[in-house]
Amino acid sequence: MPLVRVMAVLLLLCALTACSSSDSDTVRGAADGGRLTIGIRFDQPGLAEHTLDGRFVGFDVDVAEYVAGQLGVHPSGITWRETTSATRETDLTSGNVDLVVATYSITDKRKQLISFAGPYFETGQDLLVRHSDNAITGPEALNGRRLCSVTGSTPAQEVKTRFAQAVQLVEYPRYPDCVTALLAGQVDAVTTDGVILAGYVMQNPELLKVVGKPFSTERYGIGLRKGDPEGQHAIDDAIQQMVTSGRWLDSLRANIGPSGYPLPAPPTVTER
Ligand code: GLU
Repeated sequence: MPLVRVMAVLLLLCALTACSSSDSDTVRGAADGGRLTIGIRFDQPGLAEHTLDGRFVGFDVDVAEYVAGQLGVHPSGITWRETTSATRETDLTSGNVDLVVATYSITDKRKQLISFAGPYFETGQDLLVRHSDNAITGPEALNGRRLCSVTGSTPAQEVKTRFAQAVQLVEYPRYPDCVTALLAGQVDAVTTDGVILAGYVMQNPELLKVVGKPFSTERYGIGLRKGDPEGQHAIDDAIQQMVTSGRWLDSLRANIGPSGYPLPAPPTVTER
């Protein structure tokens, strides 16, 4: 076929399909249709929880809804999908979700596969132990102990490499499994971000405590597919708007405040 005709056929195909493959790959493309599919956690009290009566509540939920709203998507246009520590990148790259708002630390390794907007929150890695335990005072005290973390999250390996080579790592798919194992005496500590751990203490204040000496900086970003700078900038603007409107602090006070976790200042948006 001569080149002109090939081009004409391609143009026609493009017009017929509205070039939908590339449009729906972008956040704007999805949002312009009034819908967004967002990957979120279902089991992190204060951050994102799927309640027994079917609602989604928490700071990450509020951030996701605010950003969706700024993109023109009403809460009724959001489809929530559960994502876990290990599946966040593939949930995005496979097209299973358009955005991930799930205590998702911005790291260079993850940025090879996906993009981040934000950050919208800063926290640090800490340890959750039994209330009666006064021996585990920090990550260095974990040699010979059993430490639980979640597959696909950054924290446990970090402890082993930086602080306690002789720690025994135990991995579960979800944090509540680690908390149950801690309460049952099957592990000695659980590690992840302080703000996540504070939510589990809130559920069992007589039995659990956070050591309270953060040993990393975790910057939470909103994950989106690579190659969508327009989407990234729109989300960055939405985050900034949430902060200046006061909704960011209102949501933190309502969702994280009750756990006693000290509320940080809003971070500077750097992923551009
Ligand atoms: N923020 C850390 C991460 O993205 C730990 C929390 C989590 O597993 O979601 O790996």
